[in-house]
Amino acid sequence: MTIGIIGSGAMGAGIAQVVATAGHPVRLLDQNAAALEKATSSIATSLRRLAEKGKLTPEAAEAAVARLHPTETMADFADCGLVIEAIVEDLGVKQQVFRGVEAIVSAECWLASNTSSLSITAIAAACQRPERFVGIHFFNPAPLMQLVEVVPAVQTRAGLAEEVKALVASWGKRPVLAQDTPGFIVNRVARPFYGEAIRILEEGIADIATIDWALTDLGGFRMGPFALMDFIGHDVNYRVTESVFTAFFYDPRYRPSFTQKRLFEAGYLGRKTGRGFYNYA
Ligand code: NAD
Repeated sequence: MTIGIIGSGAMGAGIAQVVATAGHPVRLLDQNAAALEKATSSIATSLRRLAEKGKLTPEAAEAAVARLHPTETMADFADCGLVIEAIVEDLGVKQQVFRGVEAIVSAECWLASNTSSLSITAIAAACQRPERFVGIHFFNPAPLMQLVEVVPAVQTRAGLAEEVKALVASWGKRPVLAQDTPGFIVNRVARPFYGEAIRILEEGIADIATIDWALTDLGGFRMGPFALMDFIGHDVNYRVTESVFTAFFYDPRYRPSFTQKRLFEAGYLGRKTGRGFYNYA
């Protein structure tokens, strides 16, 4: 099955690597030519590095590289059996993109969004055939993270989520089914994890390094909340918090923080800009 991926940023590139390694021809599309070029070369580098480390054979790595077809035109998606969207977290933009996808793909092609926080049902509602729509939510970095949340929309036909789960499992991932609610499972649990850590900082109870240290060294978390927010990026993380808060009808448990909003506004987005809660320069 050929898989189309829209968006070649952090997630789209990672998902492309996963499905190309699993044997699918991949059409990787981005509206930004530079982003597409960067993603294509970083996927190739990452696959070859895995071969050097002995995690893939050199032949398997080169075969996966050869399955990757970057494109800037949606018309190349005509032969796709599945299209996964991983573009900007904006409902209107995602809906618009899927209208364009449906004009190209066959009626049998499955459609999926990698959204972290938007309603799968609302994105599906923009489609002519919403019954073939589902959420496939990967975690960052997609090649390393095992968990994938599979989220049926209200309109999704019975049985599709199970078929998608089986496909995702065939990529070596561990899919779980989640209902279409804001943040699904992990991002919902994560909101209070970040929010409470920021409140502890704001209330002067402990500093950033101490909170991260306590949760990693003592709490057994792989990353502390501040290191993790810097890794995800404050643009992405702030928007997800705002979206989950709004979607839960302004439940104060999910209230975003000004501390993170200011980092976002300043462009101190974390690792990707060299500065966030920590300084990476
Ligand atoms: P990103 O900013 O790294 O990449 C998005 C890419 O999409 C960019 O290269 C951009 O040029 C492209 N794009 C934007 N609009 C487009 C359009 N209309 N057509 C074609 N390309 C377009 O973002 P990301 O972190 O990869 O996130 C993408 C999606 O995945 C979002 O919905 C996000 O919520 C979700 N997500 C992110 C993470 C994470 O940790 N970053 C984890 C899981 C899910």
